[in-house]
Amino acid sequence: MSNPRCKGCGREIIWVEHKNPVTQEIKKVPLDPRAPTYRRNEAGQWIRSDAYVSHFSTCSQANQFSNSSKSAPPDDPWWNRD
Ligand SMILES: [Zn+2]
Repeated sequence: MSNPRCKGCGREIIWVEHKNPVTQEIKKVPLDPRAPTYRRNEAGQWIRSDAYVSHFSTCSQANQFSNSSKSAPPDDPWWNRD
């Protein structure tokens, strides 16, 4: 089984449902399974974490849509699933 790919940059992504704790709204968020993340353990050492980074922050094409002050997002953004 392979993961879907970002339409912007072609990288592998994983879709998850994220529930906003305030509004209870559920949104689909693309995560980047390839981006390494780190955390500190109890001894204060930095170790690899199993956390995932939002692909919005790693996508090379992210500036196509992140310019929020300019205009509303398009109806059919690139991160929509096929
Ligand atoms: Zn991308």
